[in-house]
Amino acid sequence: MSAAPAVTINPRVSEFVKSPKLLLIGGKWMPAKSGRTFETINPATEEVLANVAEADAADVDEAVKAARRAFEEGKWSAMRPADRARFLFKIAELIEANAAELAQLETLDNGKAINESKNIDIPMAAETFRYYAGWVTKIYGETNPSSPDMFSYTLREPVGVCGQIIPWNFPLLMASWKLAPALACGNVSILKPAEQTPLTALRLGELMLEAGLPEGVVNILPGFGPGAGSAIAAHPGIDKVAFTGSTEVGREIMKAASGNLKRVSLELGGKSPNIIFPDADMKSAAFGALMGVFLNQGQVCCAGTRVFVQQEKYDQFTDQLSQLAQNMKIGDPLDTSTRVGPLVSKEQFDRVTSYLDIGRKEGAKVKTGGEAGGQGKGYFVKPTVFADVNNSMRIAREEIFGPVAATIAFKDENDAVFQGNDTTYGLAAAVWTRDISRAHAVARKLKAGTVWVNCYGMLDPISPFGGYKQSGFGRELGKYAIELYTEIKSVFVKL
Ligand code: ADP
Repeated sequence: MSAAPAVTINPRVSEFVKSPKLLLIGGKWMPAKSGRTFETINPATEEVLANVAEADAADVDEAVKAARRAFEEGKWSAMRPADRARFLFKIAELIEANAAELAQLETLDNGKAINESKNIDIPMAAETFRYYAGWVTKIYGETNPSSPDMFSYTLREPVGVCGQIIPWNFPLLMASWKLAPALACGNVSILKPAEQTPLTALRLGELMLEAGLPEGVVNILPGFGPGAGSAIAAHPGIDKVAFTGSTEVGREIMKAASGNLKRVSLELGGKSPNIIFPDADMKSAAFGALMGVFLNQGQVCCAGTRVFVQQEKYDQFTDQLSQLAQNMKIGDPLDTSTRVGPLVSKEQFDRVTSYLDIGRKEGAKVKTGGEAGGQGKGYFVKPTVFADVNNSMRIAREEIFGPVAATIAFKDENDAVFQGNDTTYGLAAAVWTRDISRAHAVARKLKAGTVWVNCYGMLDPISPFGGYKQSGFGRELGKYAIELYTEIKSVFVKL
């Protein structure tokens, strides 16, 4: 870690961080009923950033009442769609107007490099609100071709009160993936940000009030999984739960949601294969593989953590990838020259470094990295490339959620597809080749919700995102999120 120049924190960010961090319920900021707070830590310095009100079941109950009231009153759900759209456009504009501040706040709370916050998280969050603002006036029912004495049609209606539980890896972006489509369809929400990164969601709450969103439409309840999170998943007054996070917690949510048969959508873990054929443009494939696995310190559910390379190019490719990884600058995430910031938490640091030991013990070879990357404070881990990995090792099967690439050799196309699909997950996959037929054929064979060809990690609010197998179900983004947040009603009229 090189000595970084001191970075100035935007005074508005400091002021926001210092102000009391409360719960947003029914349009008002309030402390938790228990009076409890928890600390959110800057993972680059290990210092306490802020004390945040800690919601638990009692606060969730209060928020459900406020959300239900807002929903039934219809101030949002029954608002003229063109007017509702205006609110979403306004939220997008406010995110953009405050982009620099939000980017710093995200980096302070999560540790991701400021260039990523500035160029990915914050603009994509604004774009998601803008995209769904466009949908508000285009959510149609259908006229059914019924018998001549009947007029039959469908109405597409909001589901109601949605509980939305999000992770810490893309805090504001995940909040926008959840809130924008839910609000577009006329739902109301109780959003629980991750305990590691509650700050940008709270700031978004302020911006939503500034946009004039009616009270109770969006409630924001920071807190822990077993407290606020499980209370949301189980609450009988919540109609739908949308969750992004680990597969283990996804299972818990499903169980808890079964009490009142909530609608459930889950976006869970991954161990995505990134398959490189020897005819690919090797330079772009190496950069693609690098970003695929090390963006956001590898804390990405669709990260390309299993890099498959055909035997004859394996050594050359892993050398190239390791070289690029070694050159990534680790340091103060607020510094614009930094490419690798700290992991989000001590817990995550311990988990990831334990996998570095596991990989070694399993017989994989560390080509680069393989150890902590900080000097003193901060949860830094060096970008790590393991070679000589086989697909049955734990480092190839379990989601590490850190900057760790497992490179695996394959014989031919069939072998690549077989090994690529030989995983319990199915969130994403990529294939690199100049052979157009092979690209499309392999894309069809890979069991994953997203397949990238000659690129990695591209996301767009227009394109659906979600998993096969134990990576979850339901698709976020695109028109598919409209399905998640609406009910269909059939109406029969006797003529
Ligand atoms: P990670 O392992 O990456 O931290 P988690 O799946 O544990 O991801 O957490 C994702 C989100 O789910 C967070 O907001 C967390 O507080 C929440 N959460 C954790 N456990 C539970 C639970 N049992 N019920 C509901 N939400 C939970």
